Amino acid sequence: MYALDCAVTLDVAKTAVQKSLDCGYVAGEAQGLLWWGRSLWILVSPKEALSLLRKALRLARQLDEPRLQAECHDALANCQQMLGNARKAFTSWADSLELALVIDAGDLCIEALNGLGNLYVIHDDHQTAFHYHALAVEFAPFVDDPDIRCKAFLHLAADLIKLQQHELAIGMLLRAEQSLVLPRRQNWQAEIYAYLGNIAASKGDTREAERHLLAAHRINLAAGLFWGQAVNLLGLGKLKLQLGEHEAANHFLLQGVELAERFNAGNLLMQMHEQLYQSYEALGDHARAVMHHIGYHTHFLQLAQQDSSRQLQSLSARRLHHIEMRLKLLGSEMEISQLRRQSDAGRKRLAWLESAAYQDGLTGAYNRRVMDERVPQLIAHAQQSLSPISALLLDFDHFKQINDQHSHLLGDQVLQMGCKLFLAQCRDGDLLVRFGGEEFLLFLPGVAIEVASKIAERICTALPKLDWAALQPGLAVTVSIGVGQLQADETVADWLQRIDQALYAAKRGGRNRVCLAGEAP
Ligand code: GH3
Ligand code: MG
Ligand code: MG
Repeated sequence: MYALDCAVTLDVAKTAVQKSLDCGYVAGEAQGLLWWGRSLWILVSPKEALSLLRKALRLARQLDEPRLQAECHDALANCQQMLGNARKAFTSWADSLELALVIDAGDLCIEALNGLGNLYVIHDDHQTAFHYHALAVEFAPFVDDPDIRCKAFLHLAADLIKLQQHELAIGMLLRAEQSLVLPRRQNWQAEIYAYLGNIAASKGDTREAERHLLAAHRINLAAGLFWGQAVNLLGLGKLKLQLGEHEAANHFLLQGVELAERFNAGNLLMQMHEQLYQSYEALGDHARAVMHHIGYHTHFLQLAQQDSSRQLQSLSARRLHHIEMRLKLLGSEMEISQLRRQSDAGRKRLAWLESAAYQDGLTGAYNRRVMDERVPQLIAHAQQSLSPISALLLDFDHFKQINDQHSHLLGDQVLQMGCKLFLAQCRDGDLLVRFGGEEFLLFLPGVAIEVASKIAERICTALPKLDWAALQPGLAVTVSIGVGQLQADETVADWLQRIDQALYAAKRGGRNRVCLAGEAP
């Protein structure tokens, strides 16, 4: 597979399955099925691959092999995505991510996050895609495999291009190139060329764009990679159309349609037909133009029926929210354990982190690292003294809008002023932590949920009454708060997850309110 020769992988995998069956070697059979399925999906038919992969997954479950299970979910997700079943792909990647987090498999976390991000790419939601791909890149330093790092950089670069952040994108492509293993990953070299082509095209440098896209296409052609070829052909077609070279545009696009039809790539087909329709229209060939217009519409409707991005978001947002929460915790755990394992340089960095970076510069709240260290101590103390401990998760409402409508600078000032209020509610021994961008955790040792909810209500009521107009006339700021008390035998992660669910309920209930966490199941 790494030699870009899936046919060989397919043969080897088939033989492995057969031999494993002969001698009753179930683990071998499962691995073989996984590789067989993977090569099938890349080579010919994701549909055929599904049944093989499902069987591999069943065996992996029997064997109780979480890593193999996660790999199967990932492969299944890839197939579902190619077949246009975004929702199923979403579920499979979420499953893969969940398992990968349990076994601390950074590489599989990256794969799943990349996949989840890509689903949003298909639905043109590049902001959300960026979110997942950026999470994937955060895992990159902790993964040994350069291929996987490279892939993470590539996906993020693609989002940056869509978000018109060209310079950042070029920087990310450079990082990708540094991790590129050649000649094994020629296809990614092709992808890098294609991205550079897109950047050049959007800057209006068509000559440079064409040079890059043709280079990409040559590599994909040589490697027999249909998807890449189809994408390149679409890019070249668009470029030629921009230049008014209709015959050349049609030549590329028709080839592209033929390829994309083989693997039923609805989104690519829709775009290709759209370009062809415009091209034939410009040439005055109305019959062909109508034909492609119909093609465009057919695919457009199919895509709309399958999964609109909104459906995709609302259906799985809740589930994903939980996974994100665990991911946040795991991210810092992984970083610390990685740094401990590392050489001197790592140890020095750890020492620096541990000594210098306790407080968040903007708000004065403590940072996550302090939380990781202090919270277990607070809990141990509470348990010894048989006293309760509660926490508030505070999240500013519609904070993105505040940034967007005014400025990031004003957003910063809002955070500062809000945190002053939070800190004013703290006694000695309470701990305010900046948990994420505009999310804060307030730990209250010795406080049971009844009192914690009163404190939360007080903050929630007082915050909108601060003199926001002094910062900006007409500015209104509110906060939503989740509250929960640690239960006996509950882990920190479970506790925080319950509080996070309460916050989520407060948001859904209309924001500017407090919700109490339910008891653990
Ligand atoms: P919701 O009510 O659902 O919480 O909506 P929201 O807009 O607050 O939530 P979302 O998570 O979509 O956006 C949070 C925003 O906070 C996005 C990010 O740009 C912004 N943000 C995060 N950290 C900072 C910061 O340090 N300063 C400023 N100004 N903005 C920040
Ligand atoms: Mg918010
Ligand atoms: Mg938030």
